[in-house]
Parts: sequence; structure tokens; C-alpha cells
Amino acid sequence: MRGTVLHAPGDVRVEARDDPRLEQPTDAIIRVAATCVCGSDLWPYRGIEAVNGPAPMGHEYVGVIEEVGADVTTVTPGQFVVGSFFASDNTCDICQAGYQSRCVHAEPMGTIGTQAQLARIPLADGTLVATPTMPEPELIPSLLAASDVLGTGWFAAVAAAAGPGKTVAVVGDGAVGLLGVLAARQLGAERIIAMSRHEPRQKLAREFGATDVVTERGDEGVARIKDLTSGLGAHSVIEAVGTQESMMQAIGSTRPGGHVGYVGVAHDVSLPGEKLFFSSVHLHGGPAPVRRFLPELIQLIWDRKINPGKVFDLTLPLEQAAEAYHAMDQRRAIKTLLTP
Ligand SMILES: [Zn+2]
Repeated sequence: MRGTVLHAPGDVRVEARDDPRLEQPTDAIIRVAATCVCGSDLWPYRGIEAVNGPAPMGHEYVGVIEEVGADVTTVTPGQFVVGSFFASDNTCDICQAGYQSRCVHAEPMGTIGTQAQLARIPLADGTLVATPTMPEPELIPSLLAASDVLGTGWFAAVAAAAGPGKTVAVVGDGAVGLLGVLAARQLGAERIIAMSRHEPRQKLAREFGATDVVTERGDEGVARIKDLTSGLGAHSVIEAVGTQESMMQAIGSTRPGGHVGYVGVAHDVSLPGEKLFFSSVHLHGGPAPVRRFLPELIQLIWDRKINPGKVFDLTLPLEQAAEAYHAMDQRRAIKTLLTP
């Protein structure tokens, strides 16, 4: 099969990889219908995260099951399925509590590399959710978004306790931040402030439900949020970047007693204890347990109540994955969909 491999920072190639095989009786093999490049793929691409030799890339996927192992009972060949970026058994105590991304048997899909024509999905029964029937092609981008960025934005909004009567601020205007706006809207938030200085992203944020846009960042951004909230700060803040500045911007923008939902993969973030102590905010986040939300999100997409696939503003054949990374690295694209 053909698949994307990162050789060194900036060096993404599409090359022949071995076809995956069933390795465990709980595995499934899917033919990937659509995959994409994640903001978190840019960390190793930019050399901020170490690249240890040629690494298969990609952890977002939707596709059709080709083959299942002997122990798989809930999905069958021919079904269209959505999974998340961690395979999970969905039965252990952690999964049952709704934290499937930290399943005691979790396997990161990124090491399998789903920017490819085929992918092995471990723990298929716990990981995959089938759509009711074969989806119309126009639903595929939204279903793919559910695999990570929608599920992650949704978790961030839930972790930030977004809901009726709440003012929600969103730090980060990448696909996750934008879909955090959509999630906050769906969860009934009254006011949603998107923090973005990029006009096309501001526009999409408004389409997804943002009521206000703040272009300032850092301390100035915090001051603007306070201006808009009678000096108090937002009830709920979504942090979808993962830097020291964005985390402090999120904490600073939250009123005492409010909630920060942080889902940007932290890179060199260290929280100053005293500031944290006196902030009196709830912090909850981490790798989103997307699997918890998949059945609900698939249904919302199926019923055409949400259209998260709009975050894909560039679609390329898998063979042009290098350009997909390049475009996102340069912020020419919010998110690139790849068709194998
Ligand atoms: Zn589990």
C-alpha cells in the first residue's frame, strides 16, 4: 500500500509500506476512505518534537472494514466506521468512566499511521463506531472530523463546562478551536468569544456560532475578555494550542470558579503555582476521550445538524501529502483532507 512517512523535519514522503495484517484476534483492517493532517502532526514536522527515523504518520481516519479478527463481534466487513486517535477496549474502568484515550490498553493510532490506504485498528470492538449505512460522500469530511478535531473540540467544551447561560472563550483558531466553538454552541452557550487574528478563521468561527471575536492575545487578550465580561472573565475557556502563552491566556481569561478545558498538546508548558493558586479555576483536559462522544457526534452529522467538515479547506490526493503538511505549516490551510 501507499502511506505517508516522516523522515526528518520538513521531509514527508508518500511511499510503499507493507499492507497491514491482523495481528491480534481483536484487530480489524480498514480501507481508509479519508484521512487528514493534524495540528499535532506539525510538531514533529517542524522539528519541535523529535523525529526518530522514518515514522508512519496520521491518526485520523474513516473507512470501510475489510477484515476482522476472530474475537471481533460488534463490527463486520463492509461497514463504514469512525475511530479515534487512541484505540481503546471501551470496557476497563477508565473507559467506563469516559476516559477512553487513557484506556489501560490504549494504543496510539499515530504509531500505526493512518495517512495510508489501509490501517490496522487494534481493539476494534471498543474503538470503532459504524455509521447506520454507507454515508453519502458529502458527509465523509464531517465524519472524519469526528475522528479527532470535532471530538477534541467537543471534549474541551464539556471539560470547560460550556452550557446554557455561559460565556465561553476559545483560545486557538485551528480546527480544534473552531470546532470547540461549534461544540459550545451545540451545548447551549449564550456567548462565545473566538480569539483569532486570521480573517478566514474568524469567519468560520462566526459560522460555527461565535458571537464575538477578539484579535489580541496574551495579556492584552485577557484584558479584552475581561472587558467583554464585566471585568470577571469567561465562565468557560477552551485552550486549543498547547503553549505557555496560550495556557496562561486561558487561565487568565477564566473567572474565579470557572473552568478551563485544555486540549492543545502541551509543549514546554509550566504552570506558576502561585498564579494557579489564586486563579481559583478548574483545570480539566488532556488527550480527548473522543470515543465517548462518537455515537452522539456521528448521529448529529448523520442528521445534518452540524457540519464540522467545513474545517477542511484543502483536499488533496494522499500522494500529495507533502504539500498538505506544507500548506498547514504555512497556515495556508486550516486543515487538509487526504484521499487515499
Ligand atoms: Zn479501556
